[in-house]
Amino acid sequence: MLNIVIFGAPGSGKGTQSEKLIEKYGLKHVSTGDLLRSEIKKKTKLGLMADSYISKGQLVPDEVVIRMIEGLFEKHQGTPGFIFDGFPRTLTQGKALDEILDKKGEKISMVLSLEVEDEELIERLLKRGEISGRSDDNRETIELRLKVYYEQTAPLKEFYREQGKLVRITGHGSIDTIFESMATVVNRIIA
Ligand code: AMP
Repeated sequence: MLNIVIFGAPGSGKGTQSEKLIEKYGLKHVSTGDLLRSEIKKKTKLGLMADSYISKGQLVPDEVVIRMIEGLFEKHQGTPGFIFDGFPRTLTQGKALDEILDKKGEKISMVLSLEVEDEELIERLLKRGEISGRSDDNRETIELRLKVYYEQTAPLKEFYREQGKLVRITGHGSIDTIFESMATVVNRIIA
């Protein structure tokens, strides 16, 4: 299987690039953010709980998101692979994902890390907020989310670098240019 983690700060283009990777390689999209937003929309118990963290720019507790990832293989049997977008976001989640995959005799193939400067991230998220209406795309929450990213999520880079899986990709430039860099890396690994 081809299991890709698309990694990066909020606003780095993970969602956009995931869509293109899915289209090209036929992978299943696993976005914990999308799953949580769908729960919020349906006003489920899980959604209400998640919303209290998301609207403040905080991470939803590890055990909640890990539970959402379990059962993925049963749900998507026969898929050529997964693209993990916005998961893992903590070391605990990274280790849990390795364990879940290991139980199925699978592993992460590579981690594509989109590198974008803070100034550009803030600008993109503010712009997205005007269109998306997402409760967390406002300046105050954006700044908190970036802080959370550097404190809790960025250390995962070292975790994957040690495993020899981290590939840094510049997230500046056009969507297509960035995608070409990613596809070059993916093609080299699946060749
Ligand atoms: P995203 O759409 O990936 O930017 O996620 C939006 C928000 O959902 C994040 O700021 C978190 O509050 C929450 N969230 C999404 N994925 C995770 C995760 N893997 N761990 C904890 N919280 C998450």
